[in-house]
Amino acid sequence: MSDTRALGGTRVLVIEDEKSVSDFLVSTLKAHQYAVRAEPTATAGLQAAVDFRPEVVILDLGLPDMSGLAVLEKIRSWSKVSVIVLTASGSDQDKVEALDSGADDYLTKPFSVPELLARIRVALRHSASKDDTRITHGRIEIDLDGHRVFLDKRPIKLTATEFDILRILLKNSGKVVTHRTLLKEVWGPNSVEHTQYLRVYVGYLRKKLAVPGAADLIVTEPGIGYRLLDVTSD
Ligand code: CA
Repeated sequence: MSDTRALGGTRVLVIEDEKSVSDFLVSTLKAHQYAVRAEPTATAGLQAAVDFRPEVVILDLGLPDMSGLAVLEKIRSWSKVSVIVLTASGSDQDKVEALDSGADDYLTKPFSVPELLARIRVALRHSASKDDTRITHGRIEIDLDGHRVFLDKRPIKLTATEFDILRILLKNSGKVVTHRTLLKEVWGPNSVEHTQYLRVYVGYLRKKLAVPGAADLIVTEPGIGYRLLDVTSD
């Protein structure tokens, strides 16, 4: 097996039929030392997902020969590679479906270079640190085994529900987590429609984690879910 890593940095596969977007991604990523391969169709992209062994896949949801969601499902059937989907603005339903089908994150066109690089950094970090039980995130420290949370080293009291929400957001810090995922993991599969639960409990959590003068740690992604601020990529 040849090691493509020797030829460049982290391998990113771009599956996008829109040439201007694809060219922009390729030149930007190359300029930032990523090893990039771009394919304009789902069929070629799926083949490249095997041959090129990417660490991150940037997948456009609107491809000419197959839906991006179908591509995502095929990739997910054999690989845990980080997948960031690209969508047109205004298609929240597509984003939610992709995230619930195993995409790691999304970017809405048009996106900025810092946004793109931040998403990739977060995606890569996640594939490396899924099993941490103690997490420090800026001024927050969470001890998952001990069920304890500290803000500026001082313990704060969270209810079991608040703790669960925070744990899931932190495990995915920097990445969006859909309403459906949060509801399913915290309240169970019968509660996935009850987004009002989330509004209430995320509100409580925000209050407890609020630091005067600092940005809210929990970012609302309207119509999609919540994201914990990623302090390292700000
Ligand atoms: Ca497209």
